[in-house]
Amino acid sequence: MRLLLVEDDMMIGEQLLELLRADGYAVDWVRDGEMADTALQSQTYDLVLLDLGLPKRDGMQVLQGLRGRKQTMPVLIATARDALAQRVAGLDAGADDYVLKPFELDELLARIRALLRRAAGRAEPVYEHMGVTINPATREVTAQGQPVTLSAREWAVLEPLIARPGMVLSRQQLEEKLYGWKDEISSNAVEVYIHGLRKKLGAELIQNVRGVGYRVPKE
Ligand code: CA
Repeated sequence: MRLLLVEDDMMIGEQLLELLRADGYAVDWVRDGEMADTALQSQTYDLVLLDLGLPKRDGMQVLQGLRGRKQTMPVLIATARDALAQRVAGLDAGADDYVLKPFELDELLARIRALLRRAAGRAEPVYEHMGVTINPATREVTAQGQPVTLSAREWAVLEPLIARPGMVLSRQQLEEKLYGWKDEISSNAVEVYIHGLRKKLGAELIQNVRGVGYRVPKE
């Protein structure tokens, strides 16, 4: 899953970047509202973590802009503990949830998972499909009841596919979920991870749709 982190405070931004990457997300970090607008118009994100007090354009303007363009990804706003009016205004302007600064990091990660779950049209916290279960909170995976260990990259490929059975994702779309701007991309990486996933989870779980991409079939 690819996240846009919009945060002008260097220390907070670096901490969040490290935290989110360690949790397996591809993350692009921008430090002002104009950069956020540019990123949102040039890249597809699964979620935006948006600070409201920003240079150049504030977070409310960024939020109104993206909802005005009919961009529907979840937006999690970050506000100060005493900024009640700002939180209300943000939610009413199209944000989906808020987190308070300073961040409780475990809570932040849980809210991100909850929003991604809802965005995929799901309420249940564990995915179960064709004998495979995956738990985004604990990263536990089982196949036919047996625990399976996935690499962080294999996880990043599997999660968006299994979250929406039947939907085809192209190789490029999967790469976008794997890599942020500054990451090196090797050309056949997605194929390598798909190959690894099929070996671990069964050959039928991920189908190749010729010339289009990959999907997890509907049951
Ligand atoms: Ca700020």
